[in-house]
Amino acid sequence: MAHLPERPKEYVCDNCNNIVAGVVNGEPPDHTYEPPTDCRACGNSDFVELDRYPSMPKQ
Ligand SMILES: [Zn+2]
Repeated sequence: MAHLPERPKEYVCDNCNNIVAGVVNGEPPDHTYEPPTDCRACGNSDFVELDRYPSMPKQ
């Protein structure tokens, strides 16, 4: 059975829409991803999972 390398979970900055890879916690297969503590572009600390990112970002 083919095993595809896992893609890191990605998060979208709620403020400037910058996409940041999540911070990995633990080791496979029990690792999880957490959003970064702050956005390197704007310093905001609110992130939305890319999968849940709304198709129409708020203005
Ligand atoms: Zn940002």
